[in-house]
Amino acid sequence: MKCFYAPETETHDPIFRLTYGKIQRNAEQAERAKLLLAGLDALSLSVTEPGRAPIAALETVHTKRFLKFLETAWDEWQKQPDAGPEVVPNVFPRAATSSYPHTILAKAGWHMGDTSAPIGQHSWQAALRAADCAIAATDAVLAGDDTAYALCRPAGHHTSAEIAAGHCLLNNAAIAAARLRTAHDRVAIFDIDVHHGNGTQDIFYDRGDVLTASIHADPTDYYPFFTGFADETGSGNGEGYNLNLPLPRTTTDAAWLAAIDTALDRIATFNPGALVLSLGLDTHEDDPLLGMKVSWDGLRRAGEKIAAAGYPTVIVQEGGYLTPSLTTSLTSFLSGYLGAKIPALERN
Ligand SMILES: [Zn+2]
Repeated sequence: MKCFYAPETETHDPIFRLTYGKIQRNAEQAERAKLLLAGLDALSLSVTEPGRAPIAALETVHTKRFLKFLETAWDEWQKQPDAGPEVVPNVFPRAATSSYPHTILAKAGWHMGDTSAPIGQHSWQAALRAADCAIAATDAVLAGDDTAYALCRPAGHHTSAEIAAGHCLLNNAAIAAARLRTAHDRVAIFDIDVHHGNGTQDIFYDRGDVLTASIHADPTDYYPFFTGFADETGSGNGEGYNLNLPLPRTTTDAAWLAAIDTALDRIATFNPGALVLSLGLDTHEDDPLLGMKVSWDGLRRAGEKIAAAGYPTVIVQEGGYLTPSLTTSLTSFLSGYLGAKIPALERN
């Protein structure tokens, strides 16, 4: 399995995070990459640095003004008197009549859904390189590879067409899905991160050609709070093509794996030509964000189930935060996935 990683993504190492009125260290730390790379290494999977994709590959899901904002925000921010080291909004548009703003502070509020995805000096380049990893993995699958893995940092699934949030800047999985659509009539995105993939849902909500399915902790008392409920099923042409399976935060392996079966059944009915897997490892019981209580064996069995579905698959890394367990979470999932994939290939 080809794996893609760009060391430049480590230059995005955000500091700021605000929770319950307390300023805390941001959870999306560059050290995550080292823990994930150790997991790939343990499975003797080598990484390749991706080439640079044209900006047009991002414009398939993001607006031009959002991309311009990400590119220029830090420089503009530094021109302000007494600016902090990272772009973090402190005003947000709420009215239905909101107008696109002119100042960098207000643009930050427009294009950032919360305070947890700060933009530092190198964040734009890091986000571009993370997207490059997803694009290279997609191109490997389009060229005939069965599966490819993209170690993307920052993650992407909370970012919509023009609003970054939740540690995410560019929506790498959505970019991959849009690229797969150039060769397949129907593409599915399966999001097993512990948080609802609200940005991905938003991007494809009115489309029937990209099925989005997300299994996550119940947003009643967990991020992203405002979306991820079971009654969000799509709109217009997308009606019936969005599946949310929220689960309690006490969820352990059996209920989580049953939800994976349910989602895979829906995906099978949809019959996609290819799959994007938004692989968050923050469902694991040791994850510091305390979303669910899935074990390493649960992750391994999830890998087996998703591999057995048999779709050409782009695996895009989403969450999974700082704990020494993160390495084993990745090896558990991938060993299940690759173990199930190899016998399936030998049968063909
Ligand atoms: Zn997450």
